[in-house]
Amino acid sequence: MPGVRGKQKKMQWTRSETLALAQQSCTFCYGLGLRPGRSGASTPCNCVFRAVFRACYARFRHCASKEKYISRVSLEANPGRQRKSVWGLKNEEYIADFCLVSRRTLDEYEYRIFKYHFLLGADWKLCCRKLNIDRGTFFHEVYRIQQKLGRTFRELEPHALFPLDEYFNGTGKMPADPASPFPVETEDAPKPKPVIKFPLKRAA
Ligand SMILES: [Zn+2]
Repeated sequence: MPGVRGKQKKMQWTRSETLALAQQSCTFCYGLGLRPGRSGASTPCNCVFRAVFRACYARFRHCASKEKYISRVSLEANPGRQRKSVWGLKNEEYIADFCLVSRRTLDEYEYRIFKYHFLLGADWKLCCRKLNIDRGTFFHEVYRIQQKLGRTFRELEPHALFPLDEYFNGTGKMPADPASPFPVETEDAPKPKPVIKFPLKRAA
C-alpha cells in the first residue's frame, strides 16, 4: 500500500454517485448529496461520506466474520478451485487495508475512539466511560470519524476501498500472492450456496 495520498490527481465525484449515496433525510443537502463548496464548486455532502464509511465497515465486518473460516478453506481447498482461494486472500487484504488506512487517516485520539467502537465493538456507554467523554461528544466524534474515513476510502489513490465491487473485482489491483496471478472476475461477495461441500457457518 503506497504511502502517498493523491492530492494533485484527485478522483472526481459524479453527481449520480453522490445522489445514490446521499441520505434522503439529510438537512444539509436535502438528499442530493452535494453541497456548495468553496469558489463555487460543489462538494460531496458529509452524509455521502458517512454512507461510504458504513458500506466499507459492513464489508469489513463481513470479511472479518468469515476470515478464519475462509483462510482454512483456502488452505484445504482443492488446488483446482482457484477462485475460492483468491477470494479468501482478497478478504484478508480488505481487512488489512481497512485497518491500515484508518490508522493512517485518523489522529491518535480519533483512532482510539475508532478502535474501541468500530474494531472492538464497544457501545457508546463503554466508550464514554473509557474515554471520559459525554454521549454528545462521543457521537459527534463518531460522525467526524465516519466522514473522514468515508472520504479517504473513496478518494484513496491508486486503490480506493470503495466502490466495493471495484475493489473486490480487482480492477487493476493484483493479488500479492504470485500463485494467484489474476484477480477475481465474477464473484463480488459470494453468498454461501448449497453446492458448497464443506460445513458452512452462516454469515452474521
Ligand atoms: Zn447530505
